[in-house]
Amino acid sequence: MIGAGPAGLTAAYELAKLGMRSTIVEADAQVGGISRTVNYKGYRFDIGGHRFFSKIPYINKLWQEIIGDDFLLRPRLSRIYYSGRFYDYPLKPLNALVGLGPLEAVRIGLSYFRAKVLPYGDDNNFELWVANRFGYRLYDIFFKTYTEKVWGIPCDKISADWAAQRINNLSLWNAVHDAFFLNRHNDKRITTLIEKFHYPRLGPGMMWECCESRLAQQGSETLRGVRVERLRHRNRRIESMYGTTDDGLSIELDGKHFISSMPLRELIYALDPLPPHTILQAADRLHHRDYLTVVLIINRKDVFPDNWIYIHAPDVKLGRVQNYKNWSPDMVPNPNHTLLGLEYFLWDKDEEWNWPEERMIETGIRECTKIGLIEPHEVIDSTVVRMRKTYPVYHENYRDNLNILRQYLASFLNLQTIGRNGLHRYNNQDHSMLTGIFAARNITGETNDVWMVNTEMVYHEELNPEKARGDDQQRPEMVLDPATARSIPSSN
Ligand SMILES: Cc1cc2nc3c(=O)[nH]c(=O)nc-3n(C[C@H](O)[C@H](O)[C@H](O)COP(=O)(O)OP(=O)(O)OC[C@H]3O[C@@H](n4cnc5c(N)ncnc54)[C@H](O)[C@@H]3O)c2cc1C
Repeated sequence: MIGAGPAGLTAAYELAKLGMRSTIVEADAQVGGISRTVNYKGYRFDIGGHRFFSKIPYINKLWQEIIGDDFLLRPRLSRIYYSGRFYDYPLKPLNALVGLGPLEAVRIGLSYFRAKVLPYGDDNNFELWVANRFGYRLYDIFFKTYTEKVWGIPCDKISADWAAQRINNLSLWNAVHDAFFLNRHNDKRITTLIEKFHYPRLGPGMMWECCESRLAQQGSETLRGVRVERLRHRNRRIESMYGTTDDGLSIELDGKHFISSMPLRELIYALDPLPPHTILQAADRLHHRDYLTVVLIINRKDVFPDNWIYIHAPDVKLGRVQNYKNWSPDMVPNPNHTLLGLEYFLWDKDEEWNWPEERMIETGIRECTKIGLIEPHEVIDSTVVRMRKTYPVYHENYRDNLNILRQYLASFLNLQTIGRNGLHRYNNQDHSMLTGIFAARNITGETNDVWMVNTEMVYHEELNPEKARGDDQQRPEMVLDPATARSIPSSN
């Protein structure tokens, strides 16, 4: 198993249930992958807050089984900061109307009407997809800036797949309707408006550390600090993998079956012998967005009531602010302090990525002060954490390259790829886990298509592998899973 993130650990966990042992090889010193929790002097924070929310009963059961009473049910409060004001998110018409003013409300209505009467052509990119459903005015206010901060490319260069995957089922009408009739919220229709979520008492990393210990008890070992660099193959079978430990030692592992959650491009380049040039080229065309968080310890008991705030202001690079004490009080050892995570979405080639920590912290404090959240003198300690490859980018044409890799990898008899980067799919934990479960079951003779997870509507509800089998006639983006229907600002 390559990678001890949610996908890899869950695959091993499912295999253990099926009576099989595995060895999990993890490059990092910690488990959990992007869903880890960082412990800084007893203050805990995530790589962006991680809600535990799934419409798949089997996944909910697993989470509960792994962590038991430490699985808290937490209230959700989130807002959008735009043009000097805070707006409730999910949007509430009265709150939005008061904030934007009646004139803007009329403009929004007119632009929505215009999009309905005269749609903006073929909506194969994100901008047109949203504009056709919400109108350009609303797109400009509540979608464009934040989305471009997250993805780092203009909205008209982002594939509509992403919008379809994340905001299916959410129209302006639905948003307004649900805002007024929240109590009658139809669970099947929309998931943006959930008001509660589960969260481990000590952050998401707690879930994955518990999972790792349970696996160890059952004889499945995790090798931390070992980066897999080479997979030797012959006659369409992987024979062994080679890794290097943090202190430079080489190790070789044999196995019957190999499951990988490492990024696809890296996997392709680790294959020995290397695949043909066209395959390498396709792998080179997959891109990821990277993530940096500036974490501030604030000497104030309560800074703001939200779990997180989306920053739609174009004059700051800051994308979102997390308040970890509101996720779980135990994330902060001193109840008189607040722990803020300022989230920056970057490319690792951006100059900010390579700035010294002090400069990044200074920027974070300045931007956070500018939007009125803190005073600089309240910051008593701070740190910076960088995480590469957090967002598989749905660039225009990414799918053609992905299909080339998918077909090539299908030729291996004992290799499966799973998870967010292993499938280059914008999966949350639950769908990443589901791919691991399916891969594990495939080893016992089932034939689930892991590439269909998070694209197909029906089987998620009941985890019925029969319905998860591949169907090449079905265009994945046409059939959507209500569990992933979130609004843009809740992008993870
Ligand atoms: C900012 C942000 C917020 C998010 N919020 C949420 C949320 O609220 N709820 C939610 O459910 N999901 C959320 N997600 C998504 C969630 O983080 C991912 O779905 C999940 O972590 C993916 O699990 P994975 O195992 O597929 O991949 P990863 O978490 O990426 O784990 C892969 C593991 O493989 C290891 N690895 C990579 N290469 C090698 C190698 N060569 N050798 C050995 N090991 C290797 C990595 O170190 C890593 O530990 C969020 C993501 C981001 C970026």
